[in-house]
Amino acid sequence: MEPSQTRFKVYCSQCREKVELSASEFRLALGRTKERTFYSFTCPACGAAVRKPAGEKIVAALVDAGVSTMRLVQVEG
Ligand SMILES: [Zn+2]
Repeated sequence: MEPSQTRFKVYCSQCREKVELSASEFRLALGRTKERTFYSFTCPACGAAVRKPAGEKIVAALVDAGVSTMRLVQVEG
């Protein structure tokens, strides 16, 4: 099975629809703290760009599934 075929069920915070998305449709942003670590996706039901905090388990699951990650670095000044 291709890693990108892994699917996740998530709730959209905009329309409250439960949607199923493949790993390739998520983006994961890894910040330096939990508060700055989140995943995002575009809701297929309402089209909203949804961003949610990602706990350790979610991060691990998304990384395992091959979700694109970006590491956030703090910009000084
Ligand atoms: Zn939605």
